[in-house]
Amino acid sequence: MAYKVSNVHALEILDSRGRPTLEVTLQLDGGATGVAGVPSGASTGSREAVELRDGDSKRWKGAGVTKAVANVNGEINKLVAGRSWKSLEELDRAVIELDATPNKSRLGANATVGVSMAAARAMAVEDGQPLYRWLATDESLMRLPVPHFNVVNGGAHAQNELEFQEFMLAPLGAPNIAEAVRAGAEIYQALRGILHAKGHSTGLGDEGGFAPALATPEDVLDLLVEAIEASGYTPGREGVALALDPAASEMREPDGTYRYSTGTQLSTDQMIDRYEELTSRYPIWSVEDGLGEDDWEGWERLTARLGSRVQLVGDDIFVTNPSIIREAIARKVANSALIKVNQIGTVTETLEAISVCRGAGYTQFISHRSGETPDTFIADLAVASGAGQLKTGAPARGERVAKYNRLIGIAAENPALAYGMPGRR
Ligand code: PGA
Ligand code: ZN
Repeated sequence: MAYKVSNVHALEILDSRGRPTLEVTLQLDGGATGVAGVPSGASTGSREAVELRDGDSKRWKGAGVTKAVANVNGEINKLVAGRSWKSLEELDRAVIELDATPNKSRLGANATVGVSMAAARAMAVEDGQPLYRWLATDESLMRLPVPHFNVVNGGAHAQNELEFQEFMLAPLGAPNIAEAVRAGAEIYQALRGILHAKGHSTGLGDEGGFAPALATPEDVLDLLVEAIEASGYTPGREGVALALDPAASEMREPDGTYRYSTGTQLSTDQMIDRYEELTSRYPIWSVEDGLGEDDWEGWERLTARLGSRVQLVGDDIFVTNPSIIREAIARKVANSALIKVNQIGTVTETLEAISVCRGAGYTQFISHRSGETPDTFIADLAVASGAGQLKTGAPARGERVAKYNRLIGIAAENPALAYGMPGRR
């Protein structure tokens, strides 16, 4: 089977934050078409594949993506169109070679990931398969992920004083995806009522979570437990657990300490003590980026201390990069990797990162970015890979809800598909 590409084309469109991003359309000779919207982060890891922005201050304050669009419509189209490709991998590897930099900085990872996602979609259409089935390397692994609803936003995603970026609800104990989504949405509504009753703002952050003027993680965690119970659910792994993404690289100072906007400064070991205390006191099952991307020795100690009972997820530190994840495995750093397609810049390398994790017993946590479009690619990717977990914001805002709704649709098409983390029936 070969896929003959007739054309690939990009447009500069808006993302959910009102900033420019790419929409890429790829057509095959047989008539199949794939369209993809490219995500964009705010708290990015320094080793991520490079998102190419124009830097022309007269347009979008420099954030335009016309150069990336031109790279798709020019060089990439010239390479891929009019040729038959044996697989997505063959096409992705040719684009990587065309770019010829270690981090896709010449063509832009926003250009390459859009082409790769659109190509996957078009190839799935040509083969007459839904995307999740087409992407699956082993259909027996497919399962519906636990949705992680980011219901309180801080850090780079909100204007409040909260240092930790994300506070998530994880309905690990839900019987199926539809009930998991209902639990997340009911608790989200209950939380709105509780915040309102206590005189807090119910304005939203970038990912649709509330952004109240609360100062400490404990303030938020107490309210989350209250909202879970008020909605009739049980806090904890049998019911609805909590997950954190402190995004600690954003707090890291040049002297190696972690600074809170309240003025507090903590050493790496004091941060680890803090996580030990928080994860003992609250039903927190997962902590992402608890330490900075350059604090590898701290991560080794964090993993040794908490890794046997808490999922420790590397995001900024791993940037979905298979070679960095291999290094982490060798050093016993973290026990899980966040997986974001635009951090590495092709679907092929994303699948490779997932398979490296699986081979070493590291869990995989599929993720959106804070800047999104209604594109639902990652919902299909989560099901295909069998990762068992997906975070894509609050159960609110169209670009977040689209992914959760896609999971409900996939479940309806496949009543036998299991829900939850691998190992759970
Ligand atoms: P970002 O945040 O998309 O702004 O990078 C998401 C995350 O840190 O997980
Ligand atoms: Zn993160």
